Amino acid sequence: MNSCPVCGGPCIESASSLISVLSSRFSPCPRCKGIIKDKDSPVSINRWEEVCTCNKRFIDDVFAHIGSIMAEEGVISPIAPLKSIGTPLIHPGYSIKTHPFLPPRSLVFLSPHVDKKTAERLQNEVIEIKAVIKSSPFTPGLSTGSLKGPVRTYKTLSGCDVRADIFETPYGPIVLYKPQSLLHIEFPRGNDPKIANLAGTLSRKQPSTVLDACCGVGTLGITAALFGVKKVTFNDAWFASAYFSGLNLLVNSSALGLESVTFTRDWHQMKKHPVSRRPLCVAYCGEDRDFQVWQGDYHEIVAHLKGTPDLTIIDPFQKGSPGLVTHIKDEWRAISGGEAFIP
Ligand SMILES: [Zn+2]
Ligand SMILES: [Zn+2]
Repeated sequence: MNSCPVCGGPCIESASSLISVLSSRFSPCPRCKGIIKDKDSPVSINRWEEVCTCNKRFIDDVFAHIGSIMAEEGVISPIAPLKSIGTPLIHPGYSIKTHPFLPPRSLVFLSPHVDKKTAERLQNEVIEIKAVIKSSPFTPGLSTGSLKGPVRTYKTLSGCDVRADIFETPYGPIVLYKPQSLLHIEFPRGNDPKIANLAGTLSRKQPSTVLDACCGVGTLGITAALFGVKKVTFNDAWFASAYFSGLNLLVNSSALGLESVTFTRDWHQMKKHPVSRRPLCVAYCGEDRDFQVWQGDYHEIVAHLKGTPDLTIIDPFQKGSPGLVTHIKDEWRAISGGEAFIP
Protein backbone atom coordinates (compact mmCIF):
# COMPACT_ATOMS: atom_id res chain seq x y z
CA MET A 1 0.00 0.00 0.00
CA ASN A 2 1.05 3.65 -0.41
CA SER A 3 2.83 5.37 2.47
CA CYS A 4 0.75 7.74 4.58
CA PRO A 5 0.43 11.16 2.89
CA VAL A 6 0.42 12.93 6.27
CA CYS A 7 3.39 11.28 8.06
CA GLY A 8 5.08 9.13 5.40
CA GLY A 9 4.73 6.07 7.67
CA PRO A 10 2.86 2.78 7.30
CA CYS A 11 -0.58 4.11 8.42
CA ILE A 12 -2.48 2.96 5.29
CA GLU A 13 -3.44 -0.67 4.74
CA SER A 14 -5.58 -2.12 1.97
CA ALA A 15 -9.24 -2.72 2.83
CA SER A 16 -8.82 -6.47 2.36
CA SER A 17 -5.91 -6.75 4.81
CA LEU A 18 -7.60 -4.51 7.41
CA ILE A 19 -10.90 -6.44 7.19
CA SER A 20 -9.24 -9.88 7.27
CA VAL A 21 -7.94 -9.36 10.84
CA LEU A 22 -10.90 -7.34 12.11
CA SER A 23 -12.68 -10.13 13.99
CA SER A 24 -9.70 -10.61 16.34
CA ARG A 25 -8.27 -7.08 16.37
CA PHE A 26 -10.05 -5.86 19.52
CA SER A 27 -10.78 -9.19 21.22
CA PRO A 28 -9.08 -10.28 24.47
CA CYS A 29 -6.85 -13.28 25.10
CA PRO A 30 -7.75 -15.61 28.03
CA ARG A 31 -5.37 -13.64 30.31
CA CYS A 32 -6.78 -10.17 29.45
CA LYS A 33 -8.66 -8.47 32.28
CA GLY A 34 -11.47 -6.07 31.59
CA ILE A 35 -13.54 -4.44 34.30
CA ILE A 36 -15.88 -1.67 33.21
CA LYS A 37 -15.24 1.55 35.13
CA ASP A 38 -17.79 4.09 36.32
CA LYS A 39 -17.36 6.98 33.87
CA ASP A 40 -18.72 9.46 36.43
CA SER A 41 -16.02 8.54 38.96
CA PRO A 42 -13.14 10.99 39.46
CA VAL A 43 -9.95 10.37 37.48
CA SER A 44 -7.87 10.20 40.68
CA ILE A 45 -9.56 7.12 42.18
CA ASN A 46 -9.19 4.96 39.08
CA ARG A 47 -6.39 2.38 38.97
CA TRP A 48 -5.52 0.66 35.71
CA GLU A 49 -4.16 -2.68 34.53
CA GLU A 50 -0.81 -2.87 32.77
CA VAL A 51 -0.74 -4.08 29.14
CA CYS A 52 -1.37 -7.86 28.91
CA THR A 53 1.31 -10.25 27.59
CA CYS A 54 -0.76 -10.39 24.36
CA ASN A 55 -0.05 -6.65 23.96
CA LYS A 56 -3.67 -5.55 24.41
CA ARG A 57 -5.44 -3.67 27.18
CA PHE A 58 -9.09 -3.00 28.02
CA ILE A 59 -10.22 0.44 26.78
CA ASP A 60 -11.31 1.60 30.27
CA ASP A 61 -7.83 0.85 31.66
CA VAL A 62 -6.25 2.79 28.79
CA PHE A 63 -8.64 5.67 29.49
CA ALA A 64 -7.86 5.66 33.24
CA HIS A 65 -4.13 5.68 32.42
CA ILE A 66 -4.63 8.67 30.08
CA GLY A 67 -6.67 10.50 32.77
CA SER A 68 -4.01 9.99 35.44
CA ILE A 69 -1.29 11.47 33.21
CA MET A 70 -3.52 14.44 32.35
CA ALA A 71 -4.19 15.06 36.06
CA GLU A 72 -0.47 14.79 36.88
CA GLU A 73 0.29 17.35 34.18
CA GLY A 74 -2.38 19.64 35.65
CA VAL A 75 -4.45 19.95 32.43
CA ILE A 76 -7.50 18.49 34.20
CA SER A 77 -8.54 18.40 37.84
CA PRO A 78 -7.98 15.13 39.75
CA ILE A 79 -11.70 15.18 40.58
CA ALA A 80 -12.77 15.51 36.94
CA PRO A 81 -15.05 12.60 35.95
CA LEU A 82 -13.43 10.02 33.70
CA LYS A 83 -15.94 10.69 30.91
CA SER A 84 -14.92 14.36 30.71
CA ILE A 85 -11.27 13.91 29.73
CA GLY A 86 -11.80 13.45 25.99
CA THR A 87 -13.12 11.30 23.13
CA PRO A 88 -11.57 7.97 22.15
CA LEU A 89 -11.73 6.93 18.49
CA ILE A 90 -10.51 3.42 17.76
CA HIS A 91 -8.66 2.53 14.58
CA PRO A 92 -10.27 1.12 12.59
CA GLY A 93 -13.69 2.25 13.76
CA TYR A 94 -16.54 -0.12 13.09
CA SER A 95 -19.79 -1.16 14.65
CA ILE A 96 -18.43 -3.15 17.58
CA LYS A 97 -20.82 -4.91 19.94
CA THR A 98 -18.47 -5.32 22.94
CA HIS A 99 -15.96 -3.08 24.72
CA PRO A 100 -12.68 -3.24 22.79
CA PHE A 101 -9.29 -4.48 24.03
CA LEU A 102 -6.83 -2.17 22.33
CA PRO A 103 -3.66 -3.30 20.54
CA PRO A 104 -0.71 -0.85 20.25
CA ARG A 105 -1.33 2.38 18.29
CA SER A 106 -5.04 1.79 17.80
CA LEU A 107 -6.51 4.86 19.54
CA VAL A 108 -6.80 8.46 18.35
CA PHE A 109 -7.53 10.54 21.44
CA LEU A 110 -9.30 13.91 21.08
CA SER A 111 -9.48 16.33 23.98
CA PRO A 112 -9.95 20.07 24.43
CA HIS A 113 -7.75 19.88 27.56
CA VAL A 114 -4.41 18.61 26.24
CA ASP A 115 -1.29 20.68 25.61
CA LYS A 116 1.82 19.74 23.61
CA LYS A 117 3.80 18.46 26.61
CA THR A 118 0.96 16.27 27.88
CA ALA A 119 0.29 14.94 24.37
CA GLU A 120 3.93 13.91 23.96
CA ARG A 121 3.91 12.19 27.34
CA LEU A 122 0.70 10.33 26.44
CA GLN A 123 2.22 9.26 23.13
CA ASN A 124 5.36 7.94 24.88
CA GLU A 125 3.75 6.29 27.89
CA VAL A 126 0.41 4.97 26.60
CA ILE A 127 1.32 2.43 23.91
CA GLU A 128 -2.26 2.22 22.58
CA ILE A 129 -2.25 5.87 21.46
CA LYS A 130 -1.80 6.52 17.73
CA ALA A 131 -2.31 10.30 17.95
CA VAL A 132 -3.42 13.03 20.34
CA ILE A 133 -5.58 15.81 18.88
CA LYS A 134 -6.49 19.07 20.58
CA SER A 135 -10.18 19.46 19.77
CA SER A 136 -12.33 22.61 19.90
CA PRO A 137 -16.08 23.29 20.01
CA PHE A 138 -16.56 23.43 16.23
CA THR A 139 -16.59 20.92 13.37
CA PRO A 140 -13.29 20.88 11.48
CA GLY A 141 -13.19 21.64 7.74
CA LEU A 142 -15.67 23.61 5.65
CA SER A 143 -18.38 22.96 8.20
CA THR A 144 -20.58 25.96 7.45
CA GLY A 145 -21.05 24.81 3.86
CA SER A 146 -19.80 28.16 2.54
CA LEU A 147 -16.58 28.16 0.53
CA LYS A 148 -15.83 31.57 2.00
CA GLY A 149 -15.19 29.91 5.32
CA PRO A 150 -14.36 30.04 8.08
CA VAL A 151 -12.03 27.08 7.62
CA ARG A 152 -11.02 25.74 10.99
CA THR A 153 -9.26 22.57 12.00
CA TYR A 154 -8.20 20.75 15.14
CA LYS A 155 -4.51 20.39 15.93
CA THR A 156 -2.60 17.11 16.01
CA LEU A 157 -0.21 17.48 18.96
CA SER A 158 1.50 14.07 18.72
CA GLY A 159 1.53 11.03 16.44
CA CYS A 160 -0.32 10.73 13.11
CA ASP A 161 -4.07 11.38 13.11
CA VAL A 162 -4.87 9.24 10.05
CA ARG A 163 -7.34 6.50 10.99
CA ALA A 164 -10.00 4.46 9.21
CA ASP A 165 -13.70 3.72 9.65
CA ILE A 166 -15.33 0.64 8.18
CA PHE A 167 -18.90 1.09 6.92
CA GLU A 168 -21.24 -1.72 5.96
CA THR A 169 -23.01 -1.35 2.62
CA PRO A 170 -25.46 -3.81 0.98
CA TYR A 171 -22.59 -4.66 -1.42
CA GLY A 172 -19.94 -5.35 1.24
CA PRO A 173 -17.84 -3.34 3.68
CA ILE A 174 -15.85 -0.24 2.65
CA VAL A 175 -12.82 1.21 4.42
CA LEU A 176 -12.54 4.98 4.66
CA TYR A 177 -9.34 6.61 5.88
CA LYS A 178 -9.35 10.18 7.12
CA PRO A 179 -7.01 12.65 8.83
CA GLN A 180 -9.13 13.06 11.96
CA SER A 181 -7.99 16.59 12.92
CA LEU A 182 -9.24 17.92 9.55
CA LEU A 183 -12.62 16.19 9.21
CA HIS A 184 -15.77 15.64 11.23
CA ILE A 185 -16.30 12.52 13.33
CA GLU A 186 -18.57 9.98 11.62
CA PHE A 187 -18.42 6.73 13.59
CA PRO A 188 -20.00 3.65 11.96
CA ARG A 189 -23.09 2.42 13.83
CA GLY A 190 -23.69 -0.64 11.67
CA ASN A 191 -26.74 0.78 9.93
CA ASP A 192 -26.00 4.09 8.23
CA PRO A 193 -29.25 5.75 6.99
CA LYS A 194 -27.50 7.71 4.22
CA ILE A 195 -25.99 4.53 2.76
CA ALA A 196 -29.37 2.75 3.04
CA ASN A 197 -31.15 5.69 1.32
CA LEU A 198 -28.59 5.74 -1.45
CA ALA A 199 -28.82 1.96 -1.96
CA GLY A 200 -32.61 2.25 -2.40
CA THR A 201 -32.17 5.04 -4.97
CA LEU A 202 -29.46 3.14 -6.89
CA SER A 203 -31.72 0.07 -7.16
CA ARG A 204 -34.63 2.16 -8.38
CA LYS A 205 -32.79 4.38 -10.85
CA GLN A 206 -29.93 2.06 -12.01
CA PRO A 207 -27.75 5.07 -12.97
CA SER A 208 -24.67 4.60 -15.14
CA THR A 209 -23.17 7.97 -14.16
CA VAL A 210 -23.10 9.41 -10.62
CA LEU A 211 -21.69 12.64 -9.24
CA ASP A 212 -20.96 12.70 -5.49
CA ALA A 213 -20.93 16.48 -5.28
CA CYS A 214 -19.88 17.04 -1.62
CA CYS A 215 -18.12 13.72 -1.31
CA GLY A 216 -16.31 13.97 2.03
CA VAL A 217 -13.86 11.05 2.08
CA GLY A 218 -15.92 9.22 -0.56
CA THR A 219 -18.43 7.16 1.44
CA LEU A 220 -21.44 7.50 -0.88
CA GLY A 221 -19.50 7.65 -4.17
CA ILE A 222 -17.59 4.47 -3.29
CA THR A 223 -20.90 2.82 -2.31
CA ALA A 224 -22.23 3.71 -5.79
CA ALA A 225 -19.04 2.38 -7.39
CA LEU A 226 -19.37 -0.87 -5.46
CA PHE A 227 -23.00 -1.15 -6.63
CA GLY A 228 -21.56 -1.21 -10.15
CA VAL A 229 -21.98 2.35 -11.46
CA LYS A 230 -19.48 2.66 -14.34
CA LYS A 231 -18.67 6.35 -14.05
CA VAL A 232 -18.46 8.06 -10.65
CA THR A 233 -17.17 11.59 -10.17
CA PHE A 234 -16.19 12.65 -6.66
CA ASN A 235 -15.96 16.33 -5.76
CA ASP A 236 -15.22 18.29 -2.61
CA ALA A 237 -13.92 21.81 -2.13
CA TRP A 238 -11.97 20.80 0.99
CA PHE A 239 -8.52 19.40 0.16
CA ALA A 240 -8.49 16.74 2.88
CA SER A 241 -11.78 15.30 1.62
CA ALA A 242 -10.78 15.33 -2.04
CA TYR A 243 -7.35 13.78 -1.47
CA PHE A 244 -8.64 11.07 0.85
CA SER A 245 -11.46 10.18 -1.59
CA GLY A 246 -8.74 9.31 -4.10
CA LEU A 247 -6.79 7.43 -1.46
CA ASN A 248 -9.92 5.52 -0.40
CA LEU A 249 -10.51 4.42 -4.01
CA LEU A 250 -7.02 2.95 -3.86
CA VAL A 251 -7.61 1.36 -0.42
CA ASN A 252 -10.80 -0.32 -1.71
CA SER A 253 -9.36 -1.11 -5.13
CA SER A 254 -9.69 -4.89 -4.91
CA ALA A 255 -13.44 -4.73 -4.12
CA LEU A 256 -13.86 -2.14 -6.90
CA GLY A 257 -11.81 -4.12 -9.43
CA LEU A 258 -9.32 -1.28 -9.94
CA GLU A 259 -5.71 -1.83 -10.96
CA SER A 260 -4.43 1.61 -10.04
CA VAL A 261 -5.33 5.14 -9.02
CA THR A 262 -3.31 8.00 -10.46
CA PHE A 263 -2.88 11.13 -8.35
CA THR A 264 -2.27 14.35 -10.25
CA ARG A 265 -1.64 16.41 -7.10
CA ASP A 266 0.10 15.53 -3.87
CA TRP A 267 -0.99 16.10 -0.29
CA HIS A 268 1.56 18.79 0.59
CA GLN A 269 0.85 20.71 -2.62
CA MET A 270 -2.92 20.61 -1.91
CA LYS A 271 -2.46 21.65 1.72
CA LYS A 272 -1.20 25.04 0.50
CA HIS A 273 -4.62 25.68 -1.15
CA PRO A 274 -7.00 23.97 1.25
CA VAL A 275 -10.19 25.32 -0.37
CA SER A 276 -10.66 25.49 -4.12
CA ARG A 277 -13.56 27.02 -5.98
CA ARG A 278 -12.22 26.32 -9.49
CA PRO A 279 -12.43 22.52 -10.00
CA LEU A 280 -9.03 20.78 -10.15
CA CYS A 281 -8.61 17.10 -10.97
CA VAL A 282 -6.90 15.36 -8.06
CA ALA A 283 -6.98 11.67 -9.02
CA TYR A 284 -8.45 9.35 -11.61
CA CYS A 285 -8.63 5.72 -12.57
CA GLY A 286 -9.83 4.69 -15.96
CA GLU A 287 -9.70 1.13 -17.10
CA ASP A 288 -13.21 -0.12 -17.73
CA ARG A 289 -14.39 1.97 -14.74
CA ASP A 290 -14.20 5.73 -15.05
CA PHE A 291 -13.66 7.24 -11.58
CA GLN A 292 -12.41 10.79 -11.10
CA VAL A 293 -11.81 12.93 -8.03
CA TRP A 294 -12.03 16.71 -8.19
CA GLN A 295 -11.43 19.49 -5.70
CA GLY A 296 -13.73 22.43 -6.32
CA ASP A 297 -17.11 24.09 -6.06
CA TYR A 298 -19.71 21.58 -7.24
CA HIS A 299 -21.71 24.34 -8.92
CA GLU A 300 -18.79 24.72 -11.33
CA ILE A 301 -18.08 21.03 -11.93
CA VAL A 302 -20.80 20.62 -14.59
CA ALA A 303 -18.55 22.28 -17.18
CA HIS A 304 -15.98 19.50 -16.62
CA LEU A 305 -18.39 16.60 -16.98
CA LYS A 306 -19.35 15.08 -20.30
CA GLY A 307 -23.12 15.42 -19.92
CA THR A 308 -25.41 15.61 -16.92
CA PRO A 309 -24.94 12.73 -14.46
CA ASP A 310 -27.86 10.29 -14.15
CA LEU A 311 -27.72 10.81 -10.39
CA THR A 312 -26.16 13.64 -8.41
CA ILE A 313 -25.71 13.10 -4.69
CA ILE A 314 -25.62 16.35 -2.72
CA ASP A 315 -24.93 15.78 0.96
CA PRO A 316 -24.61 19.26 2.48
CA PHE A 317 -23.23 19.75 5.97
CA GLN A 318 -26.27 21.54 7.30
CA LYS A 319 -29.60 20.46 5.89
CA GLY A 320 -31.22 22.96 8.23
CA SER A 321 -34.73 23.84 7.16
CA PRO A 322 -36.75 21.90 4.55
CA GLY A 323 -36.48 25.09 2.48
CA LEU A 324 -32.75 24.56 2.08
CA VAL A 325 -33.23 21.08 0.59
CA THR A 326 -35.74 22.48 -1.95
CA HIS A 327 -33.36 25.33 -2.75
CA ILE A 328 -30.44 22.92 -3.39
CA LYS A 329 -32.61 20.76 -5.67
CA ASP A 330 -33.98 23.73 -7.65
CA GLU A 331 -30.53 25.26 -8.00
CA TRP A 332 -29.02 21.98 -9.24
CA ARG A 333 -31.84 21.52 -11.77
CA ALA A 334 -31.21 25.04 -13.09
CA ILE A 335 -27.45 24.49 -13.40
CA SER A 336 -27.30 20.95 -14.74
CA GLY A 337 -30.78 20.04 -15.97
CA GLY A 338 -30.58 16.98 -13.70
CA GLU A 339 -32.06 15.81 -10.42
CA ALA A 340 -30.25 16.09 -7.08
CA PHE A 341 -30.55 13.29 -4.54
CA ILE A 342 -30.14 14.41 -0.95
CA PRO A 343 -29.47 11.37 1.26
ZN1 LIG B 1 0.37 8.60 9.06
ZN1 LIG C 1 -4.34 -10.55 26.76
